[in-house]
Amino acid sequence: MNEYDSNRIYDIVKKINYKKTSLLKETDCYVLNTCHIREKATDKVYHDIGRIKKEFKNKKKPIVVVTGCVAQAEGELLLNNEKYIDAIIGPQSYHDFNKVLLKIEKNNTKINSTEFEVIEKFDTLNFIKNSNTNVSSFLTIQEGCDKFCKFCVVPYTRGAEFSRSTEELIKETNDLVNNGAKEITLLGQNVNAYNFEGHKLSDLIYKISKIKKLERIRYTTSHPIDFTEDLIQAHKNLKKLMPLIHLPVQSGSNEILKKMNRKHTVEDYIDLILKLKKNNPAIEFSSDFIIGYPGETDKDFEATIKLMKEVRFINSYSFIFSPRPGTPAAKLEKVNNKVAKERLIYFQQIAEEIKMKYRKNLFNRNSLVMFENKSRRGNEFFGRDEYLNSVIVKSQQDLNGKIKLAKIINGNQSTLFGEIKDEINFNGFEEKKCQRLVS
Ligand code: SAM
Ligand code: SF4
Repeated sequence: MNEYDSNRIYDIVKKINYKKTSLLKETDCYVLNTCHIREKATDKVYHDIGRIKKEFKNKKKPIVVVTGCVAQAEGELLLNNEKYIDAIIGPQSYHDFNKVLLKIEKNNTKINSTEFEVIEKFDTLNFIKNSNTNVSSFLTIQEGCDKFCKFCVVPYTRGAEFSRSTEELIKETNDLVNNGAKEITLLGQNVNAYNFEGHKLSDLIYKISKIKKLERIRYTTSHPIDFTEDLIQAHKNLKKLMPLIHLPVQSGSNEILKKMNRKHTVEDYIDLILKLKKNNPAIEFSSDFIIGYPGETDKDFEATIKLMKEVRFINSYSFIFSPRPGTPAAKLEKVNNKVAKERLIYFQQIAEEIKMKYRKNLFNRNSLVMFENKSRRGNEFFGRDEYLNSVIVKSQQDLNGKIKLAKIINGNQSTLFGEIKDEINFNGFEEKKCQRLVS
């Protein structure tokens, strides 16, 4: 979501003639777009500002703006502690960027803009064309969260659940596709809670799937309790909807899920997975896990390992519980740090073994890969298969933006290496067969 936000901030500041640069030394405005989901985010802000200060030691100071969720959560504190910061802009106020920049340019004042103005934000953004030109692009359709899991800052930093208008989203998707996007990932903190005047996520997906030049649709992140029957059916009906579902579970223990206020049990979660698999056997899952949540016993942890082995997630993101200021879980007694670390190492070892076994199974089989860019080495192209696995192939042709059948030769935990099967050239969606069918 921050990547989407950064692109949109750029669309906004372009209007007052700011341009992107990758050269720190020629920057006259520096925007730090931050994430507050786990600790160290604030340290990173101070560290980055240290770098900027060093670069500009004997030069005119650039304007420094901190935006994103750290700005929302710790804005006033940052402004007071670090005089080098000129403005704090919360994630729901970044439509104010130009007003803030022009004010700083004129009056050299400090500004804190952290109101929750999500309606005004999207009303403003709807009038500014999304100029992103990536083959695979993000599109925020929903923001905020009303679920209040006890460990999470999102309801406090991004505010209440808000869904954007379906009509505006179709327009923005068309803009992105006309700019060259072939794949759209619909984003939301609870993307499957999307509901605009009765139009659900599946309705939006059916609508954008009609856009001819759009080849792939993904969405993230889903919450298990919002996974409705219509969305399950969409996975059967729509070939453009990719068969990887990111479905965070957090823990395999019902006691811990209850303590987290997750509102689902392990049994509900497994039932949902089985239902999705029955409906479309090609579907695979990835998930998020929090290890060492307050009160997690050895038995709870074993239940998480059991769930991992049972579902065999093809990818997972696991972190030790990080107490976030202002959340109810931050006040609870922490699991011993050494124990939490040992559990995380063990969990990740099991997760990696499962992932590697899955990946080895792809060797000598064919995958449909959508190529996104050329590597610096010249004739190597980077793309992703239907399950978001990174694939690199060598080719003399320009593969950018193309979907090709690639035979996977080998690979490691992060990348698969393949070769293009030139004799079978899948152009146009209709004739395409999915990875699972051509294997
Ligand atoms: N809304 C999604 C859901 O509930 O499934 C997750 C969105 S959250 C922004 C992304 C992930 O960050 C969560 O799934 C969780 O695993 C992780 N996370 C959030 N707060 C955390 C904390 N305090 N400590 C460790 N991990 C955390
Ligand atoms: Fe955070 Fe997701 Fe829970 Fe909302 S549902 S509070 S975003 S973890």
